Amino acid sequence: MNSKFPEMGLTIFSAMSALASEHGAINLAQGFPEFDCSNQIKKLVNEAMNSGANQYAPMPGLKALRNAIADKVKFCYDVDYCPETEITVTAGATQGIFTSIAALVNTGDEVIYFEPAYDCYSPAIRLFGGIPVPVSMDFPDYTYNWEAVRNSITLKTRLIIINSPNNPCGKTISQSDINQLAQIVKEFSLFVISDEVYEHIVFDGLKHLSIGTHPELKSKTITVSSFGKTYHNTGWKLGYVLGPADIITEFRKVHQYLVFSVHHPSQKAFAELLSYRDFYVSLSPFYEQKRNFFLSAIAGSSWKALKTEGTYFQLLIIPEEIQGTDVEIANWMTTKFKLASIPVSAFYSDATDNRVLRFCFAKNEETLIKAAEILHKI
Ligand code: PMP
Ligand code: GLN
Repeated sequence: MNSKFPEMGLTIFSAMSALASEHGAINLAQGFPEFDCSNQIKKLVNEAMNSGANQYAPMPGLKALRNAIADKVKFCYDVDYCPETEITVTAGATQGIFTSIAALVNTGDEVIYFEPAYDCYSPAIRLFGGIPVPVSMDFPDYTYNWEAVRNSITLKTRLIIINSPNNPCGKTISQSDINQLAQIVKEFSLFVISDEVYEHIVFDGLKHLSIGTHPELKSKTITVSSFGKTYHNTGWKLGYVLGPADIITEFRKVHQYLVFSVHHPSQKAFAELLSYRDFYVSLSPFYEQKRNFFLSAIAGSSWKALKTEGTYFQLLIIPEEIQGTDVEIANWMTTKFKLASIPVSAFYSDATDNRVLRFCFAKNEETLIKAAEILHKI
């Protein structure tokens, strides 16, 4: 077999979850909520199944859901997307990102993205013959380095991927960053994929800035979102993409042969659910409280927290006295202390090790207290 990914193993999320379960460790590694989705969502999807919404949904998604997404996006960001031509429902954000890359990247195209980076960008770029071009955000504040971006641009650069709020570092993009991005996109005629799955989880009074709201970026940007993060049902794998009609047309050409359409009853349920705005309006305070709870529980320990502006992840700096790489320390903590986290070097193509671990705080308070007690001991 001529493997397309000879060197590739399991994702760090699967690997750390498996290690956590093998050793009975508290799993603050893979990012998923410990709490269940609401009974209202389950009731709606059951009703949809019982009402016979069990055959193929339309290829771009149920019309009612696309309408509801357009209303939600208008309410949140005061921007218009046409449900007919500019919105497509996907099987989660991963499929939205993969399909966007498939539609936009041609052989030899260079794609810039920022590290630390979520794991699904680079493999998809490579699969379609593109060349991943990672640009580091400046540690420890994880600021965008636009000078470095400019220095990375060549005649082959086609696309920039943005992820705000960023997994793993929680950095959000500022208006001034977006203006610099817009300038670069215009100057070099690029496209943008904006991964905004944590759009409703931002802290300390910050507002999520959606890239597609910028007048010069809207026509060049495909925005990807996921219901899993917002409704505590990461296992349902439902999301959507927004973009100008010409990009979405190309997106759908791939989408129709990749999945054709996605889970029909869930789409029917979300078409109704999206009108209950409280779900996403109350999500930031909900997770801000959890972040603060976790931070106060670890206060006084040897673990220093980096700033988290959004997402449900907290980065902690490994105390100096602990020897080893972040991967060795994450493994050691899981097996010996029964607390699993993700080593942040896994989010870098060259395994940059700033001695930082990522902890998911989308957990009940008892779990966070137990995790903090362990951190106090280490
Ligand atoms: N992008 C980022 C930044 C993520 O953290 C995740 C998943 N946690 C995804 C995309 C994928 O989302 P989904 O589960 O909807 O495929
Ligand atoms: N997005 C989740 C995380 O960052 C992982 C999802 C997955 O396991 N692919 O932890």
